Amino acid sequence: MKIHHLRSATMLLTLGEQRLLVDPMLCKAGVMPGFKLFGGGRRPNPLVSLPSGSEEALAAATGILVTHRHPDHLDEDAMRWIRERDLPVWTNPQDAPKLRKKKLDARVLTSDALGMHSETIPVRHGRGLVGWLCSPVSSYFLSCPGEPKVYLTADAVLTPELLQTVQRLQPDVIVAPAGSANFGWGGDILFSVDELVTLIQKTESYFVLNHLESLDHCPTQRHALQSRMEKEGLAQRVFIPQDGQTWSWDER
Ligand SMILES: [Zn+2]
Repeated sequence: MKIHHLRSATMLLTLGEQRLLVDPMLCKAGVMPGFKLFGGGRRPNPLVSLPSGSEEALAAATGILVTHRHPDHLDEDAMRWIRERDLPVWTNPQDAPKLRKKKLDARVLTSDALGMHSETIPVRHGRGLVGWLCSPVSSYFLSCPGEPKVYLTADAVLTPELLQTVQRLQPDVIVAPAGSANFGWGGDILFSVDELVTLIQKTESYFVLNHLESLDHCPTQRHALQSRMEKEGLAQRVFIPQDGQTWSWDER
């Protein structure tokens, strides 16, 4: 198992024979409008360019895995790039028909579709009205023989259901968004740092924290997150990659 973190939620996940490009946002910096609607701080997204080495990572992809259809997880540049290569796009039952209308080879991630066991589990991308507006979002559990079990929480807030999922599946590695995003209205739409601390404390999994420092509505900074994890005594199970950095199970 290897994760090549590119930017925000975009990464190349190598698991067994699969090299899955997860949630590709491939556009240049600053070409999308800001997502922060209220409270100041609105800036064009993404805030940063893709890191060097991205082209090689993208070229290695055998398929795409999409958690939801927000532009920071599947943008127009990514859709064009995927169409040109005719790569399969694995996703949830709600998004698959919509992605087919975009002329993508979208396929529902069924339990054995990738030659490994997988589960698709809905998560809440915020609470109340904002959570409803941001839905649907799917998390994915991937279990490949001979590899650590991986759970991608996708864009989520901490709920009793998510905790139950993690406790039931016992993943070895959890990839979770840590930018604590908000629109300046309706509350956080990703885990707060406190929620991440709770989630990490309630599991024995290793964590890769992403969705950081790339979008205007994600205020959490890597150095503050790292300091908090050290203060809580959790840093040995937490990896916070810089853009372009890789992490493999053997490095834990
Ligand atoms: Zn997102």
